[in-house]
Amino acid sequence: MREFPDYFADAEQSFDDARFVIFGVPYDSTSSFRFGSRLAPAEIRKASWNFESFDIFTSIDLSEIPIHDLGNLEVEDKSVLEMVQEVERVSERIIRKGKFPIALGGEHSISIGVVESLKDAFILVLDAHLDFRERYEDNPYSHACTIRRITDRVGVDNVLAVGIRSAGRDELDDARREGLRFMTSRDLRKEGAEGVMDRISGDKVYISLDFDVIDPSFAPGVSTPEPFGLRPDEVIEIIKGLSDRICGFDLVEVCPAYDTGITSVLAAKIVRMVISEVWKNKYMG
Ligand code: MN
Ligand code: MN
Repeated sequence: MREFPDYFADAEQSFDDARFVIFGVPYDSTSSFRFGSRLAPAEIRKASWNFESFDIFTSIDLSEIPIHDLGNLEVEDKSVLEMVQEVERVSERIIRKGKFPIALGGEHSISIGVVESLKDAFILVLDAHLDFRERYEDNPYSHACTIRRITDRVGVDNVLAVGIRSAGRDELDDARREGLRFMTSRDLRKEGAEGVMDRISGDKVYISLDFDVIDPSFAPGVSTPEPFGLRPDEVIEIIKGLSDRICGFDLVEVCPAYDTGITSVLAAKIVRMVISEVWKNKYMG
């Protein structure tokens, strides 16, 4: 493949003048099946150069949107708690300046750090897995505990999980007892994006996209693949429906070692679609 710059395509604005700030969190130390999501930020950036800067659907040219790429945080050798705190520090800085954070994982535990800096937002998590264990492999900050840790921070009423099709029995009992609202992949197929909109309140919505919510036939290169998942267009319908109130976004659990390139290309495209839809419907509209 041709050599490209090491930043996300069209992210050529300075930090100060940018509206969107992308940063990579190359961290995967709690992964429980496949390792290697720490390599995803670099692969997704590479894949981003595949596309035209002009987006035919929104008629927006991404080169005209002020986007900055902060590079990767230096977290690879840190403990998961130190990593979460570093993510919080960086996203806090982005949010305080009124900018839109886009975090590229890494494993799902990175999202806890972003949510930590966005406690007044409604959190929509797209995931195949319920991620509601109190601890996993003795670690409360494992990727398998992410939704639980998020509800600790924003309250269970401000979280919705969508695309769920895998949970442990005790984990599911716990989630029901605590009142976590979720839609399975079948619920979503039945109700569509409107079903998601109906369950979301408030004018600030953060989206955490665990890429394994998408069916492995579209996104094989993920850390914990789970069949019978969503189609990419179902994810895009949800993003479009919320685009005038999304306040931040992360994309996690892409695992390049198990990918032929299809997963990182889809991930890069979805990041670009989030940016163009939010730019059009929130900042221009
Ligand atoms: Mn997850
Ligand atoms: Mn998952």
